[in-house]
Amino acid sequence: MRILLVEDEPGLVITVSDLLASEGYEVDSATDGVSGLEKAAAGGYDLVLLDVMLPRKTGFDVCRELRQRGQDVPVMMLTAKTQVIDRVVGLKLGADDYLAKPFEPSELLARVEALLRRVKKENRAQVKSYVFGDVSIDFDSGEATKGGQPVSLAGKELQLLHYLVDQRGRVVPREELLQNVWQYHSDINSRTIDVHIAWLRQKLEDTPQTPRFIHTIRGKGYRFSV
Ligand code: CA
Repeated sequence: MRILLVEDEPGLVITVSDLLASEGYEVDSATDGVSGLEKAAAGGYDLVLLDVMLPRKTGFDVCRELRQRGQDVPVMMLTAKTQVIDRVVGLKLGADDYLAKPFEPSELLARVEALLRRVKKENRAQVKSYVFGDVSIDFDSGEATKGGQPVSLAGKELQLLHYLVDQRGRVVPREELLQNVWQYHSDINSRTIDVHIAWLRQKLEDTPQTPRFIHTIRGKGYRFSV
């Protein structure tokens, strides 16, 4: 994953670059709006971290011109300003997220990860229907059958299965399911996920104790595979 950091405070460039690099991101930087725009417009980045108050061209202008040039790289604006109006302007100009300075390193990392994940998810076309074994699911209507017999799936079971099927072949961490299926709402915990997984297996697997499709990867999460 390549990240472009457009920021004019030398100290922040160093700390943020080091932080992102330590998490395995490849980081490139620009220290003014004009060179930032040129680098971002040239492409090849998965994310742009864009300061608002920059020499030569503001972050708002950079973001707007980037979109006008048809570059749809995800942009997270960084600014010391916290007024609502700035946030609204930034989002209107095509920024995807907004982070107020000063921020904690952990917050920056969490937001970067979340944005990258969101974009990846949006880019990946969601499966509308899926057949595995003798199970057939229509995710739009919520109708499911097993061996030709209707199976009733609750809303969260369906959403969970849909997510796992979309991500099929990949180990999906519990944290990601909490974020994307439950949106961190209510007082759910990872036990809730285990329970829903058990229900899905009960309804869809021939032998729920030794699942063929919905696998537990110990200590890591779940993987759907056929
Ligand atoms: Ca600045």
